[in-house]
Amino acid sequence: TFRALVTNKDAEGKVSSGVEQVEEARLPEGDVTVDIDWAGLNYKDGLCLTGAGGLVRTYPHVAGIDFAGTVSDSQSDRYGLGDTVVLTGWRVGETQWGGYAEKARVRADWLVPLPRGFSTRDAMVIGTAGLTAMLAINRLEAVGLKPDGGEVLVTGAAGGVGSVAVTLLAKLGYQVAALSGRAEHAASLLALGASSAVDRDSFLAEPDKPLETARWAGVIDNVGGKVLGKVLKQVKYDGLVASIGNAGGIGLETNVLPFILRGVTLIGIDSVMQKFETRVTAWQRLGELFDFEAYGAGNVTEIGLEQLPEAAQAILAGQVKGRTLVKVR
Ligand code: NAP
Repeated sequence: TFRALVTNKDAEGKVSSGVEQVEEARLPEGDVTVDIDWAGLNYKDGLCLTGAGGLVRTYPHVAGIDFAGTVSDSQSDRYGLGDTVVLTGWRVGETQWGGYAEKARVRADWLVPLPRGFSTRDAMVIGTAGLTAMLAINRLEAVGLKPDGGEVLVTGAAGGVGSVAVTLLAKLGYQVAALSGRAEHAASLLALGASSAVDRDSFLAEPDKPLETARWAGVIDNVGGKVLGKVLKQVKYDGLVASIGNAGGIGLETNVLPFILRGVTLIGIDSVMQKFETRVTAWQRLGELFDFEAYGAGNVTEIGLEQLPEAAQAILAGQVKGRTLVKVR
């Protein structure tokens, strides 16, 4: 048996989780079994652990959309016993059992070998959040974003994706404006390399116009909703916007003027279904760019499986700072 945080739904539809011993025979099908060291806490994990969003269809469930560990059994040519691996995406932790357990069984194609020098903890400091930030930067640069083009705005900056995006962009030489609803984290965002902090409430309180003063050469948006709607009106001529998240709502109220008068491009980013080669390239670039020491100073929290239900509420309430790591064993 192994320890797992098992999520159940009762007859009244109430979703709750508790740590249990689980038989290995209950693991889903797959060609690689991983002994998990660390998992991450992401916004989507908050949804899965609370039942919000209807992402989990079958109970009992083991949530956890990302994890890192060591291969303990493999039917795949790609992995041998003892290899360290990271998993993100492929709806693991949503439609099948995920990382909040000492063991997981998945398809070899969903895993990525850890970049050289990375510990399993390092992989989860970055996690789905960091991978997605890297994928967004790679896409924006592929269509022309350059450090000398002007300021890049990151929204939801104190969260997981946002804080990693800030540190990566700063490392690449971009001028980064960090938009956050939590003024208390402004100093920490400046320490990660942001050149200015934008307060979300004051930003939203500015009078709305069909087109506003052009400020941003690029945007990495984790929030959607009202924030993205307003941000689009402030993007510079030929500017590039990556839409990653919906922490502020799935709606998007804007108008076509930014697109037809300023040539603004809105790009969707999905980390879940990215093919193996794209994920490997992104992880390698993260290995070159990510400064664990700088990020680790104040942006990483460790919890155990037992603390996840409470942490799930906190992340949905926008109260989590940076990355939360789950020490599974
Ligand atoms: P997170 O750590 O909770 O970060 C989200 C941040 O958004 C919060 O820290 C907060 O930042 C801000 N926020 C929260 N509630 C808000 C509200 N009501 N209005 C405006 N801003 C709000 O979550 P995450 O794991 O980094 O994920 C961020 C978003 O990206 C989520 O929506 C997630 O589902 C999405 N995501 C998408 C992909 C993909 O493949 N497309 C991958 C990973 C994540 P401040 O306090 O600094 O404002």
